Amino acid sequence: MMEKNFTCVVCPIGCSLHVKEEKDGSIDVTGNRCKRGLDYGINEWTDPRRIVTSTIGVVGGLEPVTSVKTVSPIPKGRIMELMDMLNKVMVEAPCSEGMVVLEGIFGEDNDVVVTRDVVKG
Ligand code: SF4
Repeated sequence: MMEKNFTCVVCPIGCSLHVKEEKDGSIDVTGNRCKRGLDYGINEWTDPRRIVTSTIGVVGGLEPVTSVKTVSPIPKGRIMELMDMLNKVMVEAPCSEGMVVLEGIFGEDNDVVVTRDVVKG
């Protein structure tokens, strides 16, 4: 039997979750006050994911960088891989919020988009 504690981050209450996987593969979550915490605990155990925010370089803009984020959470184990990819991305000014800079990351229906406008410099 494997088990682990997590803090639920779905709402500000921050319940302490205890998640354990039984021998038959079933997952048991305790400490959650609601169904969202149950889903969060199961996801953290089976496929932990995070929204990633970062910055990328901007060429010819009033500012040299802009901020970006993934539209949906990505697998936690691939965050460094995405950071390496973003280190190589440069966009040309002007760039505006919502502009896609990486499409279909890791073969999923998920993009990295700009979250701050940069005008031409
Ligand atoms: S289990 Fe429910 S009440 Fe507790 S932190 Fe998560 S979302 Fe909030």
